[in-house]
Order: sequence, then structure tokens, then C-alpha cells
Amino acid sequence: MTDAHKNDSVEDDRHRARMLKKKAVIDQRIARANQQRGVLILMKGNGKGKSSSAFGTMARALGHGQQAGLVQFIKGRKETGEYRFFKDHPSVDFHVMGHGFTWETQDKNQDIAAAAQAWQIARKMLQDDRYHILVFDEMSYMFKYDYLDVEPVVAALNARPENQNVIITGRTMHRALMDIADTISEIADIEHAFRKGVKAQPGIEW
Ligand code: ATP
Ligand code: MG
Repeated sequence: MTDAHKNDSVEDDRHRARMLKKKAVIDQRIARANQQRGVLILMKGNGKGKSSSAFGTMARALGHGQQAGLVQFIKGRKETGEYRFFKDHPSVDFHVMGHGFTWETQDKNQDIAAAAQAWQIARKMLQDDRYHILVFDEMSYMFKYDYLDVEPVVAALNARPENQNVIITGRTMHRALMDIADTISEIADIEHAFRKGVKAQPGIEW
């Protein structure tokens, strides 16, 4: 055996030992994660990808034949691709907040009424165990602008059916939601095409 071959086989043995150790650690972690229940996922941060992640996860659930409920708390000025794609899906209940809050409305009372109405729909979904997954898109702004109180939302989330998964998106998350969340992901704004002067486009922005 040449020296080069000897070194190779020593390296192989080391690699195998390292991988065995790693497998033992991962197996232990898998064995420890033995709870079966729904989770609360928060998608926060200034980067692009929060809502699209939530819709992607919803599509994943639908692929397993699950029932989904969706409430969008900011009424887009445009009809979004996700709305067009999912609104007629037999296993998706899709609600967009009426009249509601956009950066352009100046009628706070009307916004608050719209938020309360959207919350009533979301609250009913949280009491209904037919829904496997709920997405409350852009809900975080409702707390930021004091359109909704966070306490009843926390209470309803805590009392929801045990196997129901919930995803909430929005740039900033209320501390009270972070305290009860199972998974929190923050998307960082490293760069965005908008700042390079690229116009918003269907299929990417909406
Ligand atoms: P997406 O819906 O694409 O997943 P998002 O939910 O993470 O985005 P929002 O804060 O809801 O982000 O904003 C949605 C819209 O704003 C999208 O058109 C997105 O491309 C744009 N956007 C998101 N982040 C930024 C940013 N940092 N600068 C400029 N525009 C952004
Ligand atoms: Mg979004």
C-alpha cells in the first residue's frame, strides 16, 4: 500500500467515526421529539419571502389532502396570484380583509371595523378542528397599528384544536405571539430588486 492509499483509508475511518457520532446525536434528537401536535409558526423580518413561505406550506398541506383556512389582513390593491390560484380550491377557505387597511386608507375607524371582521373569521377557524392549517397573512400589522388587541388572539391560539397548525406572517411580531410560538423564522433583507430599480412584477411580488 502506498502512503497515499494509507492516508486515504485513515481519512475514511475518521469520516466513518465522525458520521457515526453525528448519527447517534441526530437519532437521539429524533427520539426526543415525540410530541404530536399542531405548531404555531411565525414568519417575520424585513426580507422578502414570508407570505410566499406561508402559501408554500399551505400547498404542502393541501398535497396531503388537508383542509386549509386563510385570512389576509391587508387588502392588496391588486388581485394576487395566490388568491387567483387558491380561491377556488375545494380545500381552501380564502378570506381577504374587506375594505381594509392599505397604506393608502386614511379612515382609521373603517380599518378597525374591517380588522375586527377579519378577526371574527379567523377566530371561528381557530375553533374548528376541520382545519388542519391556518394562515393569517400580515396579521402582525393589526397589533402594530392597534387595530386588534393581542390578548384575545393569544387566548384563541392557545385554545385551538390540538393538531391545528397556524402560520402568522408580518415584518414585526408582537412579543406575546413570540412567547407562545413553536417556530419563529426571520427573513433578513440582504438585497431587494426594488432598490436596484426593478419594477414589481406579477408572479414575484403579487
Ligand atoms: P412575499 O409575499 O414576496 O413572500 P413578504 O411577505 O416577505 O413577501 P411583505 O412585507 O408582505 O413581504 O411585502 C410584500 C411585497 O413587498 C412583495 O411584493 C415583496 O417583493 C415586497 N418586499 C418584501 N420585502 C421587501 C424589501 N425589503 N424591499 C422592498 N420590497 C420588499
Ligand atoms: Mg407578506
